[in-house]
Amino acid sequence: TRPPVTVLGLGLMGTALAAAFLRAGHPTTVWNRTASKTGPLVAQGAIPADTPAEAIAASPLTVVCLTTYDDVTAVLTPLTATLAGRTLVNVTNGTPVQARKSAAWAEEHGIAYVDGGIMAVPQMIATPAAYVLYSGSQEAYDRHRTTLSALGGTRWTGTDAGLAALYDLSLLTGMYGMVMGVAQSYALVRSEGISAQDFAPLLEDWLNAMTAGIVPRTAEAVDSGRHLTDVSSIAANQAAFPNLLHTFADQGVRPDLFEPMRQLLDHALSEGHAGDGLSRLVELLAEPR
Ligand code: NDP
Repeated sequence: TRPPVTVLGLGLMGTALAAAFLRAGHPTTVWNRTASKTGPLVAQGAIPADTPAEAIAASPLTVVCLTTYDDVTAVLTPLTATLAGRTLVNVTNGTPVQARKSAAWAEEHGIAYVDGGIMAVPQMIATPAAYVLYSGSQEAYDRHRTTLSALGGTRWTGTDAGLAALYDLSLLTGMYGMVMGVAQSYALVRSEGISAQDFAPLLEDWLNAMTAGIVPRTAEAVDSGRHLTDVSSIAANQAAFPNLLHTFADQGVRPDLFEPMRQLLDHALSEGHAGDGLSRLVELLAEPR
């Protein structure tokens, strides 16, 4: 038989996590603040717990998935004695600072702590496309990795508990950049009455081609510090970028999302980087802290 596991928080994601553990054959104890949400999981074989303490006591491994770290703190702070000697995997979305704070709190109370970043929507959990980033106690991670693999791929990022969140937020940052671009692009074609669905194949192919070039090329330039380009210069981009902003204005599309890019290109040029590629922007974004 598979090792037991506890899931705290049965929102959209927590429910998917608990269902995946059940399907993989793990005795799964579940708790949710709103008790009625345990129903569908109990029908799939989950064991409902009346309190989070009872749920934690049922398994060596507890996975917690609430809305925010503040919610996790509110639920778990009174339960340190129950958690002591067990493993807590916190897959709630948060910041590296919050994750490190949770790890320090856990260490203080003898709780093995692993922080997680879920790179999937609930429907993807336990499919080959899903993976979870982990950081924190490597010993606890190694011990429970097989159980955690019921959720999808497992990616270890390091013993600094903040790293899973840093990787997670960095990936989301790239995604939101794309979301902004896609939204602006559709707003622009629709301003001429062009259907988004007609335009979609062009946009998808273009973004795929650009991603395949820009992602690895920028990484290489940033790591080597060699930004000089024979592909597309800061000078050329700075000269052409206002064409976008003028067209947004002409077509009645808000320019807010794209104005900061013009400022960054202007800054790059004024700093003397005319012949560099757009990879130079990575360095201009870094601020002293
Ligand atoms: P939901 O809003 O569906 O669920 C939130 C869960 O948190 C519910 O179980 C809710 O309980 C519980 N909760 C909130 N506050 C408290 C509290 N103070 N005390 C006890 N329980 C509390 O959100 P999701 O399941 O979608 O998301 C959960 C986490 O997973 C978030 O951090 C999210 O960013 C992350 N995530 C979600 C993804 C997604 O695609 N959905 C993808 C990757 C990460 P109740 O039912 O009683 O309200």
